[in-house]
Amino acid sequence: MDVPRTLTAAIAHFADPQRAFDAAVELRWPGGNVFCPRCNQAKHSFIKTRRIWFCYVCKKQFTVKVGTIFEDSPLGLDKWMTALWMIANCKNGISSYELGKALGIRQNSAWFMLHRIREAMKGGLMFKIGGNGPIEVDETHIGPKPQKMHRTKRLQMHAERRERTAVVMGMLDRESRQVRAKVIPNVKRETLQNEILNQIEGGSTVYTDGAPVYDNLATREYVHETVNHVEEYVRGQVHTQGIDNFWSLLKRGLRGTYVAVEPFHLDRYLDEQVFRYNNRATKDNPLNDADRFALLMSQVGGKRLTYAQLTGKGTDSLHHPTAGTGQEESF
Ligand SMILES: [Zn+2]
Repeated sequence: MDVPRTLTAAIAHFADPQRAFDAAVELRWPGGNVFCPRCNQAKHSFIKTRRIWFCYVCKKQFTVKVGTIFEDSPLGLDKWMTALWMIANCKNGISSYELGKALGIRQNSAWFMLHRIREAMKGGLMFKIGGNGPIEVDETHIGPKPQKMHRTKRLQMHAERRERTAVVMGMLDRESRQVRAKVIPNVKRETLQNEILNQIEGGSTVYTDGAPVYDNLATREYVHETVNHVEEYVRGQVHTQGIDNFWSLLKRGLRGTYVAVEPFHLDRYLDEQVFRYNNRATKDNPLNDADRFALLMSQVGGKRLTYAQLTGKGTDSLHHPTAGTGQEESF
């Protein structure tokens, strides 16, 4: 496949509906191995003029969008491909306002689009990390930034802010340079240590700061080493600067691009940042923008996110902000 290398080239490339369609088909079903998303069979005929397939087994039609994050979206693949490209590659993320402007669609349509793409970015890795190199473990608080304001107002805001502050736990595998991050309900010892037990292979070396919540990790089959951040940040190999670096990237993205993040959606922002971090170019793995785009496209299948699921209200997935905008098209 002829792939664009830059954002400008990507926009121009995918503006052509046939090219956007061909790219989506090739990335979803490499080598032209199209199968029915409903019954997984490959007995079908293609109706070229309408860009749909007819499955002989379940006797239903399907498009390249069925069974993916694009299902039921009235937006064309030209817009979806461009959006995927941008989100996979903009280091600090992109706001729904910017995305809407770039694609010529309404901001709330872009917002829904962004969240669907984050669904595709979700790792869903079931295996444990560790075993080879050490794992850095840390937690951080994400909340609204304190603003300059009158004292009474500030006190009032304080309670509100506490309510809107979330705790995120992160782990970095030094060997594979891969990060995992998720929102956790609190910073109790049990919560943090259960996460470690669930995510990290027994016997691994775990580096943390000196917080008492990580005490006794050594009794739970881990080699536990700490740095006391009051006195030192690095002791030889023992430090948490890798995960700290991830926190700064995450916070820069959140503060700069996303004006306000509801704790309810924070996990999705984490998925986005983790995807870009884990697929960044390194010496051993020189990925480029086209690689990240192709990887993200390979993850769109088997995932859905409806407007009702996203907002926690409503029941009909078709009643999302893009419905009835007159942008509907055949594929
Ligand atoms: Zn079928």
